[in-house]
Amino acid sequence: ADITRTLGLQKRIALIAHDHKKQALIRWCQKNRDILGQHFLCGTGTTARLISENTGLPVEALKSGPLGGDQQRDRVIVDGEIDYLFFFTDPMTLQPHDTDVKALTRLASVENIVFCCNRSTADHIISSPLFL
Ligand code: PGA
Repeated sequence: ADITRTLGLQKRIALIAHDHKKQALIRWCQKNRDILGQHFLCGTGTTARLISENTGLPVEALKSGPLGGDQQRDRVIVDGEIDYLFFFTDPMTLQPHDTDVKALTRLASVENIVFCCNRSTADHIISSPLFL
């Protein structure tokens, strides 16, 4: 992690999952723990805490998504503080903060960050030569 940081190769990664996808994101983080551990990580409140507890990785916590964490995440994207967003969304459950998800999709395009909503795309991103 120190060498990655020293060389300026450290990426800023946001990790978020809707409730039914939290276990899948935790498993994905466990599987990719060594790579993720070399980068700066943040996430919405509950997701960040669960990833930290289950992987030991430091994950800076924003507020919980439905309580304004989505807006905080949008702010850091707008300010250019996020390079990658791994957001495991639940396509089968209507979210109380559904409009936040729509806003995010647009913002991710505006800022041209790397952004995905499911595990298979996350696998492709993290194993891409562009990521490594
Ligand atoms: P949470 O928020 O990590 O605090 O559960 C995620 C979300 O946006 O639903």
